[in-house]
Amino acid sequence: MSVDTGATLLIDGQWRQGSASFEVVDPATLEPVGRVADGTAEDARAALDAACAAFDAWRAVTVEERGGYLRRAAAEIRAKLDTLAPLLTSENGKPLAEARGELLGSARMLEWSAEEARRAGGRVLPSAPNGPGLVVTAPVGPALAITPWNFPASMLIRKIGLALAAGAPLIVKPAEQTPLIATELVRILHDTGLPAGVLQSITTSRPAEVAGALLADPRLRKVSFTGSTEVGLSLLRNTTTHLRRTSLELGGHSPAIVFADADLPAAAAGVVAAKFANAGQSCIAINRLFVHRSVHDELLALITAKVADLRVGRGTTEGTTIGPLIDHTALAKVERHVEDAVAGGAEIHTGGKRWSGPAELKGAFYEPTVLTGVHDDMLVSREETFGPVLPVYVFDTDSEAVGRANATDYGLAAYLFGKDLTRLWTAMDHLHFGVIGLNDPTPVRPELPFGGMHNSGQEREGGAEGIEAFQETKSVAIKL
Ligand code: NAD
Repeated sequence: MSVDTGATLLIDGQWRQGSASFEVVDPATLEPVGRVADGTAEDARAALDAACAAFDAWRAVTVEERGGYLRRAAAEIRAKLDTLAPLLTSENGKPLAEARGELLGSARMLEWSAEEARRAGGRVLPSAPNGPGLVVTAPVGPALAITPWNFPASMLIRKIGLALAAGAPLIVKPAEQTPLIATELVRILHDTGLPAGVLQSITTSRPAEVAGALLADPRLRKVSFTGSTEVGLSLLRNTTTHLRRTSLELGGHSPAIVFADADLPAAAAGVVAAKFANAGQSCIAINRLFVHRSVHDELLALITAKVADLRVGRGTTEGTTIGPLIDHTALAKVERHVEDAVAGGAEIHTGGKRWSGPAELKGAFYEPTVLTGVHDDMLVSREETFGPVLPVYVFDTDSEAVGRANATDYGLAAYLFGKDLTRLWTAMDHLHFGVIGLNDPTPVRPELPFGGMHNSGQEREGGAEGIEAFQETKSVAIKL
């Protein structure tokens, strides 16, 4: 089945066809699932003109009214879950249950942004010798959101909710692999009656051209990017002539530490959830599991049994828990990492090879894999695998575990499993990561700021900080 998406460029309140189009494929079958307009630099500039024209009126809209658009869109996402989830799965591959979860999470993000908009004011400081001071916030201005394919709904919606709540018009550029769900979500928001130019969307197969046209224009006041560290750094290099607010949510290399006193069945379930969701293609997926020597064998047995029970297949098939990787380039990277580890002496406990199913599933499937005997110099230890591979390491002391967990240039997410609060707190305090789950394998909540340190990014999304990222600050000194 192929979706006829027609015009997918939303510019100045109108859906446009564009001069060319490109195909979207189902990563499970490699069959086409739709075509979308292939936006150009010219389209992007037209969108920026419209965003600039819309800005003054949008910033004047009351926060209640802005929140109303977001709340109505959230309700519509919930109402349309049964059609949106299969659409998301058709171009991303993840199991339907995960697609539904992502969409429900997206609805919650919109609702939260709608509420938080009411509190996104400044502050009044008590009088200094001359008089009081005010910290006044203002929407940042026209903004650009660039989003990835791995969470094509939530990454997009989080940026839309925060930008619109803050009063900033937003142009979104969804990933070229997953423009269908993005377009449907933008349509839902647009259909709430948003004024022209407040939310616009440019589907394109030429991200560098479209982003480059916008970045070259000083009227663009903000970029919010989620994707690879490589592209994130290139965006910073491209912004050398005009300074603007830039939020970067980039790659990760998440550690998890399981202490000796952990509830082992709960830790095993948590590790498997945090590693294998979305077939390991998550920026906060566990990439390195450190287990205390005294519980290593027991935990490994629990994890291996759970991983062996995961069901690989097409995301739309009942019971599938591991879908395809996004493409064969991703599969080649996973294979390279596992081959490198095995060549260096690592042992495979389950998985360790491509999965082959029915002939129509021509996509890039890999069996969920558990490795032990992994050294710190192997590829799996040094790079984000972005696939269903869990390397397990042994540690003896808490400080050794935290030190090895910190031994990466990335600093996005980390996980701790244990009971002793002092130990958990001390480890949390010493970890250089922006998001930390204490016995929690899903540490992403609308009310918590999300983002990484070091090469994992800058600024935060979600929480009050997420709205601030779409605001400027003015300090007002009053002399009485
Ligand atoms: P990617 O960087 O290739 O693509 C992300 C987005 O950037 C897409 O929309 C793409 O079209 C666009 N893009 C690509 N080249 C560009 C260019 N030259 N100029 C402007 N835009 C460009 O990343 P990906 O492969 O889609 O996503 C996987 C990566 O994203 C992983 O590293 C993952 O860890 C990271 N990620 C991070 C987070 C986070 O919140 N920190 C969330 C999800 C994914």
